Amino acid sequence: MVSYGWLTDRQRSFFASGATKELSYRIDALRRLKAGIQERERQLINALKADLNKSEFEAYMAEIGIVLEEISFTLKHLRTWAKPRKVRTPITHFGARGYIYSEPYGLALILAPWNYPFQLAAAPLIGAIAAGNCAVLKPSELTPRTSETIAEIIRTSFQEDYISVIQGGIETSEALLREKFDYIFFTGSVPVGKIVMIAAAKHLTPVTLELGGKSPCIVHEDANLKLAARRIAWGKFMNAGQTCVAPDYIYVHQSIKERFLRELESAVKELYGERPLLNPDYTRIVGRKHFDRIEAFLDNGTRVFGGGTDQEKLTIEPTVLTDIGWEDPVMQEEIFGPLLPVLEYGDLPEAIREIGSQPKPLALYLFTESKSVQEDVRKKVSFGGGCINDTVYHITSPYLPFGGVGSSGMGAYHGQASFDTFSHSKSVLKQTTRFDLPFRYPNRRNGLKQI
Ligand code: NAD
Repeated sequence: MVSYGWLTDRQRSFFASGATKELSYRIDALRRLKAGIQERERQLINALKADLNKSEFEAYMAEIGIVLEEISFTLKHLRTWAKPRKVRTPITHFGARGYIYSEPYGLALILAPWNYPFQLAAAPLIGAIAAGNCAVLKPSELTPRTSETIAEIIRTSFQEDYISVIQGGIETSEALLREKFDYIFFTGSVPVGKIVMIAAAKHLTPVTLELGGKSPCIVHEDANLKLAARRIAWGKFMNAGQTCVAPDYIYVHQSIKERFLRELESAVKELYGERPLLNPDYTRIVGRKHFDRIEAFLDNGTRVFGGGTDQEKLTIEPTVLTDIGWEDPVMQEEIFGPLLPVLEYGDLPEAIREIGSQPKPLALYLFTESKSVQEDVRKKVSFGGGCINDTVYHITSPYLPFGGVGSSGMGAYHGQASFDTFSHSKSVLKQTTRFDLPFRYPNRRNGLKQI
């Protein structure tokens, strides 16, 4: 059986040296990471093209650029985030001062998926480094060229006992999960999230689980339909729908359904052309297994447009389905592909109830001009995060922590939330020795000796 005890032993002794706790060390490491990425920008773009046929535009916008921005943001704010925080003390603690210190957990394990194979491996690593941890990163086996480029960036930027990449599939993950880490950050599917949490429990290791689910998108009767259609088409069909926060299905008010569907069709044409399968920049499905799984949903309901596939290239056209009910297979699991079922409602409270009866989604999107509808949906439905009058864009703000709730995950990251996720908050009370208040001691009424 493969064991990575040799690696965790080496990282543990490096961590014990205290080097990574120095702020200057972490800042230097983030700068090295940034330089390493910038040096291999072209290689990363080529790797993403080879693994997923990602266009250069998407590769930069949703993978490389976003990671470089996150590093710059962290470098700008790290000194402030890392400062000990002095907090108030109650009157019962008169004379004492309270402080909260952020300290690294130690060794972090980061397990990444294939859909944004660079971003979802690198972004958590930024938090792990910023907080002062050592880290082992396992990128996805389904995107081998990108994983190899990540390994090269890390190998040339860091010593192995500080940051290390281990490539491999499920057995590799399992072997890593048998080792004791001090923090596990997992991005992937709900079933594997459960496996990770069980493995973590054996060592009482805290976890962040960034999972998935079916993220609804509500289009209300007063929505700006042209804008809604374009923003939905963008969020759904980028990366061929293989985005954890992509709108999984639409709930549209019946009075505007037909107009909305027409707008959606023109938005898709505007973004991907008349024949998306011939568009050289259209992302493909990661592998045959996923292709077959998604293709099987194509005969659900009625097809409004799309439906074309290319088995050789593993591409599936942006496709919209109507006459869909909750009992259809496409509504039974996260689609994670370029198929968009459209359900309709007449009564918003009923739609809200239906959404609320499903597992808590990672994201929710709502298109409406009405403030009261916005408040109503926000208050009544539990979801990880989301947008009003947009899709997906909330995850690109470093000021908004990103994460799920319930079965879509636990914990959050991005910006300061990444630093906090990988830090333990150590609370320390600094007590005065100038006097000793007697009220907490037993037998105090008989008088305590002055010390
Ligand atoms: P996955 O769960 O199959 O794999 C994720 C990682 O876990 C990979 O590194 C893989 O090697 C490893 N793994 C797979 N099976 C394992 C097992 N049995 N034991 C231990 N490790 C195992 O997920 P995926 O298919 O790569 O990604 C798609 C899923 O991830 C979707 O559900 C999507 O919604 C979710 N996702 C979530 C986010 C988020 O930020 N919340 C982002 C991207 C993807």
